[in-house]
Amino acid sequence: MSSGIVYLVGAGPGDLGLATFRARELIAAADVLVYDYLVHPDLLGWCRPDCEKIYVGKRPHLHALPQEEIEKLLVAKARAGKHIVRLKGGDPLVFGRGGEEARTLAKNGVPFEIVPGVTAALAAGAYAGIPLTHRNTSSALIFLTGHEDPQKHALQIDWRSYGALKNATLAIYMGMGHLRQIMAGLIAGGLSPDTPAAVVQWASLGRQRSVAGTAATLADLVEKNQLGAPAIIFVGEVVRNHTAIDWFEHLPLFGRRIAITRTREQASELRAKLEALGAEVLELPLIQVAKKIDPQTRDDVFAEFGSYDWLVFTSANGVRFFFDEFFAKFTDMRSLGLIRIACVGEATATALAALHLRADLVPATATADALADELAATGSLDSAKVLAVTGNLNRDTLVKKLEDARAIVDRFPVYQTEKTDLAADPAAEDFRARGADAILFASSSAVESFVAQAAALGLAAGAKRPLAGSIGPQTSEAMKKAGLPVDFAAKTPGLDALVEALIKKLKN
Ligand code: SAH
Repeated sequence: MSSGIVYLVGAGPGDLGLATFRARELIAAADVLVYDYLVHPDLLGWCRPDCEKIYVGKRPHLHALPQEEIEKLLVAKARAGKHIVRLKGGDPLVFGRGGEEARTLAKNGVPFEIVPGVTAALAAGAYAGIPLTHRNTSSALIFLTGHEDPQKHALQIDWRSYGALKNATLAIYMGMGHLRQIMAGLIAGGLSPDTPAAVVQWASLGRQRSVAGTAATLADLVEKNQLGAPAIIFVGEVVRNHTAIDWFEHLPLFGRRIAITRTREQASELRAKLEALGAEVLELPLIQVAKKIDPQTRDDVFAEFGSYDWLVFTSANGVRFFFDEFFAKFTDMRSLGLIRIACVGEATATALAALHLRADLVPATATADALADELAATGSLDSAKVLAVTGNLNRDTLVKKLEDARAIVDRFPVYQTEKTDLAADPAAEDFRARGADAILFASSSAVESFVAQAAALGLAAGAKRPLAGSIGPQTSEAMKKAGLPVDFAAKTPGLDALVEALIKKLKN
């Protein structure tokens, strides 16, 4: 028997933070990932680069791969010795056919494991402020399916019998296509037409929307507000709490679509900040950063490392790639000697702090110019040797200013910033189709790439034109040069100030 195994894993309702640790660990180790429509695309970023990713669809009415084929695929891949994560939205055993897949695996002698996930009804309750049970009004919670999907050949539900229940909360999955009939059936069965009822679409995500009314009014409300699948329909007294404890939809960026343009590696921090404020985040990685080091330069630099007085970093990437090389050559931190360290701003200082290094100098404004000026102002540069760790982009003014202050400067480029091609990127497609409330630029190279990719990012008719925000003076400069408006800018360069400026702008 080979060592192949299938993990049937629940991905949770959408928000990445609601996936389990176990899910993340298994996705990160998988050889093959088999996933559905409702799985958040950013979860794929947790895979190894060489992981084979297979999309098997399952939009209502539109199966990319029939169920038997999915099951055959799992068996075949496992027999080939692969570790497979079969990732399903929510929980794999709640209206997800995970049970059928597990049976097939068992029948074929394929080892498997089942990892639960946060099912949509639980997320919808939490994120719409609807407690699913209540000690006075609801002592039962019933998950039902309205089977939107005719391919499911599922049992017909007798809605009247559920309408006759007292003191229960109904949570109905896949019911949006038949909302009117469902409510009519419940009312015909004895449910009071005044019973509170709600719909929560895209629960836990920035694009969440909800409406609340009564069993009698819900279908009209949904139609008027144009809500659709995927959504959970709640029926029961507990829905009354919605207005009092609906926390998520009151967050400052709730309902806002924000495009961010950092590299994939750097996007997560900004994404997390925005999502915590309720935003829907579109990642447009306009640039990518790759380590690029000339071995000769590196060897020269390290051979005379002891002779440098200052080590200067112009970015967190510089810190990361430099120390990768440094520790490949030297195994002891003390090889740094008593060199003084300067860096351009907070993010770079944080990257240093992660290595237990404190920067001796961080300029008040996070620009290369300010860094050079403040270094010169220390009066320590005359005949001093400076190692400037940079990317491939022009930091010539930094070097020039240091040289004007009579320093001897060696430049050590450690990475290359490249434009990416977003033409086929799903987030870019979404951006073109719907636009965004704002787009955030965190570097001048992202601005340049944005302009270069104008065609791939052109907005469709009716798409929302985003306000453009800048992280700091250099980026604003690049935006102006490219003919982009600077609709808002961080007061002091940095992510928090950028987010603050965004909130303020959108409030007006
Ligand atoms: N296994 C999944 C359910 C799959 S059936 C789970 O445990 O959640 C698909 C249905 O789940 C959708 O039609 C919708 O009713 C519901 N659903 C999934 N994700 C949702 C979300 N983020 N918000 C609201 N409903 C969701």
